[in-house]
Amino acid sequence: MATFAELGLSESILKVLAELGYDEPTPIQEQAIPVMLSASDVIAQAQTGTGKTAAFALPIVERLRDERVPQALILAPTRELAMQVAEAIYKYGKGRRISVAPVYGGQPIYRQLRALEQGVQIVVGTPGRIMDHMRRGTLALDQISTVVLDEADEMLDMGFAEDIEFILQQTPQERQTALFSATMPEAVLGLAHRYTKTPKRISIVSEQHAIPLTRQAYYEVMPREKLDALCRILDVETPTSAMIFTRTRAEADHLGESLQGRGYLSEVLHGDLSQAQRDRVMKRFREGSAELLVATDVAARGLDIPDVTHVFNYDVPNDPEAYVHRIGRTGRAGRTGMAITLITPRERRMLQIIERAGRTRIQRQKLPSLADVAARRREAFRDALRGVLEQGDLDPYLLMVEEMSEEHDAVDLAAAAFKLLLNEVDQDDTISSVEGDAVGAEPGMVRLFLDVGRLDQIRPADIVGAIANEVGLPGKSIGSIDIYDRFSFVEVPNEQSQKVLHVLNGASMRGKKVKVSVAKPKR
Ligand code: AMP
Repeated sequence: MATFAELGLSESILKVLAELGYDEPTPIQEQAIPVMLSASDVIAQAQTGTGKTAAFALPIVERLRDERVPQALILAPTRELAMQVAEAIYKYGKGRRISVAPVYGGQPIYRQLRALEQGVQIVVGTPGRIMDHMRRGTLALDQISTVVLDEADEMLDMGFAEDIEFILQQTPQERQTALFSATMPEAVLGLAHRYTKTPKRISIVSEQHAIPLTRQAYYEVMPREKLDALCRILDVETPTSAMIFTRTRAEADHLGESLQGRGYLSEVLHGDLSQAQRDRVMKRFREGSAELLVATDVAARGLDIPDVTHVFNYDVPNDPEAYVHRIGRTGRAGRTGMAITLITPRERRMLQIIERAGRTRIQRQKLPSLADVAARRREAFRDALRGVLEQGDLDPYLLMVEEMSEEHDAVDLAAAAFKLLLNEVDQDDTISSVEGDAVGAEPGMVRLFLDVGRLDQIRPADIVGAIANEVGLPGKSIGSIDIYDRFSFVEVPNEQSQKVLHVLNGASMRGKKVKVSVAKPKR
């Protein structure tokens, strides 16, 4: 597998790619970029989702001359695709002062005229509108050195054959021509044959196709158990980068806060953040200092979001298109992704609508039990342990083992060490699937939230001990205790709750300062 640098791209573009999180070229990029850079013609069979846009756009940006005249022309079947391609090019050319103009029907022509007059270097457009501009004499094609036909099969299906041929005939003979198409029917091959010179043929074989690698699942939960359910799924799935979509801004805010309060590395993308603030949020997300990005559809629109491992629909989207758009944020460019939707019993219908519209099946899954979470933690623990073994540097600990193995069996010692480190506690499973009863506090009790949990080595005894010792409340009056990885709940009698809050807040448990608040009602 080649790297982007090995494909012949320059430093400044490599830098942009690193910022975008493109770690390595996709198969189509690996094959097409060197050919495109060498100015040879290309006929490539590749579908959307394979990374084909970058395959032609990066070399175009790389080979651009400083002159402010149209040098590259990209023809696309629809205005959406034209806009997407223009945005991608703009993104790849960051830091190079390149000018790119999308030209499509439906937008007032004068705006496009102004852009063209100011001297654009790359024009992306639908064939019809490009023809309009040629007729008006507002688009000069005599300096064009590269023409790309993107989704050629689609363009021919839409009846653009004549327009495309006319446009190609008006461009210089010595141009580079690249044709990208998902399928290669006769008509496309004929066009390629007439307008390319000794083209290099590239085909991305079937298993590398953009088959959707995104697994789709849903969990049915009661509205007020959504937050706990999400946390539990997060603990089992342990995503390294995930987007969580909510329906409204207020919900995004609320959820973001709750997740932060529970110790998850999360950020919220508001609709009304300034550009600088958005950039900061996105930077933290891209660098991994935030693992979860909570956003509404509107806030996420048009954002360049790196491929994420998981997309969560905290609220089921209002229409099937939004669903497709949301889950398109994961499983891109041949990687695997996971799309998880939480639905409440009343939203079942919406799910069916989405399934029907997208002709897909979304698998129902059972909410992970606490035992599942524990199993996941053990698995992660084993992985971590193997890593430590590989690293070595164990001398001081080996000494300890030797000392202690005079009294104990080495296997027993290891097991005891695991027990200590994993610090598992028995607890009642309070949320289950939808049949399960909702948990509120018992009558007469108040449920408190503590921002420490199992990962802080907290055990029920620590919480009981703190309340008993510091507040002077007898252990038996303390209600149920739920300890999660990063937070806990404890129920205390109503009359004493203020005192517990006051005394416990800021107190230290297992060496960690604790924040305590009244648990928010579940949503
Ligand atoms: P396309 O097939 O051009 O529509 O690209 C599909 C998606 O993959 C786009 O969102 C690109 O931003 C993304 N993408 C393209 N190339 C890469 C790469 N080398 N690494 C990661 N993501 C990529």
